[in-house]
Amino acid sequence: MVIPASNVNYPPNPDIEIYPEDFWEELRSHRIVSVEGKKQRICQYCRSKGVRYESGSIIITRHKCETCQVPLCKGRKNCFVKFHWEFRNLTKMKQV
Ligand SMILES: [Zn+2]
Ligand SMILES: [Zn+2]
Repeated sequence: MVIPASNVNYPPNPDIEIYPEDFWEELRSHRIVSVEGKKQRICQYCRSKGVRYESGSIIITRHKCETCQVPLCKGRKNCFVKFHWEFRNLTKMKQV
C-alpha cells in the first residue's frame, strides 16, 4: 500500500507501515520471486529479528529478493519490504 507523502502527518494507523515515496521508488528495482525448485530457505529478516513460529522453529520461506538474492517472507509478514527498509537505513547510517 502506497501512502502519499502529503498524508504522513496524519495519526499513523498501527496496522499500516508508512514509508516515504522515494523508498517505494527504490524498491521497484527489487522483485520477490520463488526460490528455484521451491526449496525452503530461512527468512533472513525473521532470523535477524529472532522471529520464530509459535512452535519455536525458525521461519522458512519459498521466496527471495531476486536483486539481493536474500530469502524473505512474502505476504502478511511483509519481510520483503521491512528488510529493504532496514537495510536502506543501515547503509545511510554508514555514510554519515
Ligand atoms: Zn532486494
Ligand atoms: Zn520473514
